[in-house]
Parts: sequence; structure tokens; C-alpha cells
Amino acid sequence: MKARALVLREFGKPLRMETIDVKEPGDDEAVLIKVVGAGMCRTDLRLWAGTEPREGFRLPFVLGHENPSSSAHLSFSSLLDTATMVT
Ligand SMILES: [Zn+2]
Repeated sequence: MKARALVLREFGKPLRMETIDVKEPGDDEAVLIKVVGAGMCRTDLRLWAGTEPREGFRLPFVLGHENPSSSAHLSFSSLLDTATMVT
């Protein structure tokens, strides 16, 4: 499946909205979240600038992690109903 995302490819360079591939949820994954908006915070700005070292952080990277979302896929074990708003 596809999604639109703000992708960091080079530290300190302009960001671009891109269409990216998103993996379908597996049988062992409980919930797929449909993000309906995204906010950037100071942590995102430090990641963009390359001044926020984090273990396992690699480029390209999708920025924006404060997102209003709804559940789009649920497994048999999930406690949410489809289209439940999550934060
Ligand atoms: Zn934040």
C-alpha cells in the first residue's frame, strides 16, 4: 500500500512530500494506523539538522510523529474498532 510522507533524505536540506510504500500488516501485528495529519516538533527539527543522534537512525527517514490517526486494520486480538480515533 502507499502513503504520503515528509521524507528527510539529507540533513539540513529542503524536505519533500513523497509517496512511499507501506508494508501490509502481518497476522502477528495487531493494528494498522491511518495517519490523517502530522505535526513536527523540536525533535523533528533536530533530526532534520542532524544534531539529534539516535541509535539505529538512518536516512531516508519520515519526519512528523505527533499524529491524529485512526485504526484502519485490526487483527483478531485487537481491542479497538476499525476507524477508532487514536493519538
Ligand atoms: Zn515530538
